Amino acid sequence: MEASNKWLKLGSLFPETEGFIIAIQDQVINTNNYKKYIVKDPNTHNDKCRKCHRHPETIQHITGACPTLTQTDYTHRHNQVVHIIHQKLAIKPKLIPNKLMPYYQYTPKPVLENTNYRMYFDRAILTDKTIHNNRPDITLIDKVKKEIYIIDIAVPNTHNIQKTITEKIHKYTELKEEVHRIWKMDRVYIVPLVLSSTGVIPKYLLHSLNVINLPENTYITMQKAAILNTCRIVRKFLQEYSATQTIPEHTAHLA
Ligand SMILES: [Zn+2]
Repeated sequence: MEASNKWLKLGSLFPETEGFIIAIQDQVINTNNYKKYIVKDPNTHNDKCRKCHRHPETIQHITGACPTLTQTDYTHRHNQVVHIIHQKLAIKPKLIPNKLMPYYQYTPKPVLENTNYRMYFDRAILTDKTIHNNRPDITLIDKVKKEIYIIDIAVPNTHNIQKTITEKIHKYTELKEEVHRIWKMDRVYIVPLVLSSTGVIPKYLLHSLNVINLPENTYITMQKAAILNTCRIVRKFLQEYSATQTIPEHTAHLA
């Protein structure tokens, strides 16, 4: 709970953003579902999503479940969190120069290597047997200790945190076994890094950060990136609607 409220305690967001993410958490956002069932707006007859037209437009649908946003907005949010982890992980074993840059300016290299470590970013791990889930976000290989870390990041809605962690572990179990066997590693770890779209931090995230030897407070930057991106996603979603709405002629000059 302390970690989940950290962003609010730090107070480093703009007041407008802070208020907006609280409204999102409290589900008081003017979605079609909210208008139809909470406000009971007589002009809202349909609560379906304005973009996919398939599911009820709730705030959770916008922050993490609309199929039209999967390849774009959700991926961007996910990637920003991946970049935070990648940079911190690469600096420690000196795979990149020790100069932390803002995560939104950082671009991970597909492969980084030195005498002791090798690190892959978003790269398929090839094995003899065909394994479908063979492309974790980050793969870190400690050549000296003969250890591999299969790291995968997700930013689901809060009610899906636990399910997502379980899914990630399940998803990479086959790869873990193959890599263990073929590369003759002593230890292979599956490391899911999961936090919610509104910044809720499960205990498991702190555990995972420990496994990959990153400081626990790394979650603070991850949380900020998740929150800022979720605010951006919701803002954009709500704005796009008004842009496509036709403005009645007599009020057009006011718009
Ligand atoms: Zn939708």
